[in-house]
Amino acid sequence: MQNDIERILLTEEEIRDRIAELGQKLTEEYKGKNPVFIGILKGVVVFFADMIRAIPIESQIDFMCVSSYGNGTESTGIINVKKDISVDIAGRHVVILEDILDTGLTLSHTIRYLQSKKPASLKICTLLDKPARRKSEVQADYIGFTIPDLFVVGYGLDFQERYRNLPYVGILKPQAYLHSKE
Ligand code: 5GP
Repeated sequence: MQNDIERILLTEEEIRDRIAELGQKLTEEYKGKNPVFIGILKGVVVFFADMIRAIPIESQIDFMCVSSYGNGTESTGIINVKKDISVDIAGRHVVILEDILDTGLTLSHTIRYLQSKKPASLKICTLLDKPARRKSEVQADYIGFTIPDLFVVGYGLDFQERYRNLPYVGILKPQAYLHSKE
């Protein structure tokens, strides 16, 4: 698996340090507000687990599964809610946690959906932001790293359901894409 990685973009240490900083910001902002952290599955799981432990305040968690990708590396623009939240977020302070903000199509749809449940506030925290490919107005309130227009894997992010368990964020070798099509 590691052999398929051409280059490490973000090391474990860089990610850990940045999460500590983001955690501090969110702790200050949400202390006493009992926020609900909503993770967008599946890519967010690793970031989510690290992030909530960096925010040591009273809070709740929930998850949604929203898909916009097929098996390739390009957004289809087709969005489908596969798993909904179970916590009532009306009047609550909500923070959406996301692995990567790319075209923004998935998130803009998710935001509209969650806004209809009347939260007291709704903010977005993404580990990675790829502004070059944005197709919607959506912007994150908290960003781990702004990255160039590259397809990345690891730290929860997959290519055809592989590489999610790599502890860093990396770029695949072109051969890894080609082999998957054989
Ligand atoms: P958007 O709707 O913003 O285009 O897409 C967001 C979703 O697309 C992410 O949650 C992620 O699942 C997937 N995605 C976008 N860019 C990448 C990337 O560089 N690598 C991986 N593995 N997934 C990506």
